[in-house]
Amino acid sequence: MTITAILSALAEEQQGLLELLQQPQKSNHAGRDFWQGRLHGQPVVLALSRIGKVAAATTSTALIERFNVDRIVFTGVAGGLGDGVQVGDVVVATEFVQHDLDASPIFPRYEVPLYGRSRFPCNAALTARLLQASRAGLESLALPAKTLLHHGLMASGDRFVSGMQESRNLRTALKQGGHEVLAVEMEGAAVAQVCFDYGLPFAAVRTISDRADDTAHVDFPVFVKDVASLYAQAIMERFLLSLLIR
Ligand code: SAH
Repeated sequence: MTITAILSALAEEQQGLLELLQQPQKSNHAGRDFWQGRLHGQPVVLALSRIGKVAAATTSTALIERFNVDRIVFTGVAGGLGDGVQVGDVVVATEFVQHDLDASPIFPRYEVPLYGRSRFPCNAALTARLLQASRAGLESLALPAKTLLHHGLMASGDRFVSGMQESRNLRTALKQGGHEVLAVEMEGAAVAQVCFDYGLPFAAVRTISDRADDTAHVDFPVFVKDVASLYAQAIMERFLLSLLIR
């Protein structure tokens, strides 16, 4: 049967899924814990990417090489950058760009050298399922009516973006490079690139924990502690059940 890896950056994002894992089997590899088991009828491996692009690439590679996963789904939190992307909203990624990659003037800003591209795509079919699951998951949580589900480009970089001016500058620079981003986080683009290299389907969903502005460092921990896990549980339950239907 096809094995789904569910990756999160932080323990708080993973906790709810771990509590539901059946026949859990823990192993340690490359300094990380990997949890094999079944979730909503599907064989899964739960793992923490840890924070940042390099850590996320290591975990993703281990999932593929060592645990033979067939697809990777990321569930976590992110800072809202786009207009109207508010705390509590959910963003399902279509593609990822690395906002801190700059080998100019040798290569265009944001382009990943030797790949000839600056964006790495998510798998369309898997992403369509994740979008559907996110919609149903959000409905089940009975959230305020203003809660929105977004779908589009996300940016990753090795920096917690927490300043109004910084987030504005980031957005403007990306826009100049032709990248209109909805949210910013620290791992997705790395996982997308590893999956691209291995030809593995990848999809990602992020709940907005902060607005990457001057209060991001205050909003982030509260949201991660109290809400992130509930969203992940609600969305991933529906996502995994949808995999049973071809
Ligand atoms: N101090 C935190 C550090 C977390 S870094 C801790 O206690 O561990 C923030 C994490 O959430 C990263 O994994 C990143 O992917 C995501 N994230 C949420 N908001 C972000 C923002 N504004 N900028 C960058 N990453 C953000």
